[in-house]
Amino acid sequence: MRIEDGIKLDFDDVLLRPKRSTLGSRAEVLLERTFTFRHGKAPWTGVPIIASNMDGVGTLEMAEKLSEFSMFTTLAKSVDLTTVETIPDVNHFSISIGIKDADVETLHKAFKKHPNMKFITIDVANGYSERFGDFIEKVRGLYPEKIIIAGNVVTADMTQELVLRGADIVKVGIGPGSVCTTRIKTGVGYPQLSAIIECADAAHGLGAQIIADGGCKSPGDVAKAFAAGADFVMLGGMFAGHDEGIEGRLISEKQDFFTGETKKVVTFYGMSSDTAMDIYNDGMAWYRSSEGRTVQIPYRGNVEHTVRDILGGLRSTCTYIGATKLKDVPKCTSFIRVNKQYNDVFEKHDL
Ligand code: 5GP
Repeated sequence: MRIEDGIKLDFDDVLLRPKRSTLGSRAEVLLERTFTFRHGKAPWTGVPIIASNMDGVGTLEMAEKLSEFSMFTTLAKSVDLTTVETIPDVNHFSISIGIKDADVETLHKAFKKHPNMKFITIDVANGYSERFGDFIEKVRGLYPEKIIIAGNVVTADMTQELVLRGADIVKVGIGPGSVCTTRIKTGVGYPQLSAIIECADAAHGLGAQIIADGGCKSPGDVAKAFAAGADFVMLGGMFAGHDEGIEGRLISEKQDFFTGETKKVVTFYGMSSDTAMDIYNDGMAWYRSSEGRTVQIPYRGNVEHTVRDILGGLRSTCTYIGATKLKDVPKCTSFIRVNKQYNDVFEKHDL
């Protein structure tokens, strides 16, 4: 056993120091970025914010809407693209798969139907297994031109391993998600801000990118993730509860205990929760336990308002720290460590 002494930080442990700026207006800030990838052939341009591949978030409707803002969506694994005739803009969505043999079949069928798709997301809760690396290598061999997103990991060594095995973009985050209980159930995790800093450094050294996945509760957290070096930021809870993600089964009405007022609420659950296991795996296998929560969150209407709130917040961050474009945010960043959670009045799920 050994103890690592260095302090590891989360979003709530830091703030961004304001700096002298020459920007006249927030409207001057450029949020679009262009990336070329280590393996995949096509470059990508867009606003590097991604809707997570969770039920209620990673839907085709969400991909359609977010692509209007040049933003990206990883479709939930349950979205069957073979039954879809018209897909969203191929620059702004990715199919998601796991690492079973059946997932390779799913991929083949989806590409047969939609050969122009550019992105493949290979997603497992624990990206540290050798089998995961083998699977990435296999998919890279089968689809040498496509852009592969793979995760999740939280350390530099494994970020490098996944890139060398064929990933273009590594997804970073174990335990920070709004409906994730991994840290409680297993004691495993890594403070997300430090994970981003360390994994971004490792990926950039190899000409690859990272996605900061999980733990953003506010536009300020999204800004901190970019400031820490994330190339992309993935959001689950912040995009949940909107028209574009809601299927009939997820929305219901609830009476407020105090006011008697009836409000619409949306059921949102982790993809390793009992709810997800009941839907997709006929219940939880005997050897597993749930590592996700099921919560009810307020219905929030169209996602457009939330998108504008996030983009407006990011533009404002840039003007505060003197960055004319999102790309410059890390080099304009000085984090200040704070010793109290300044926003601890908000509940984790009060998104
Ligand atoms: P959020 O933006 O809601 O904080 O985090 C979203 C991320 O949480 C997802 O992209 C995914 O990586 C992670 N996640 C989703 N469902 C679960 C779950 O049931 N368990 C765990 N451990 N993580 C989850």
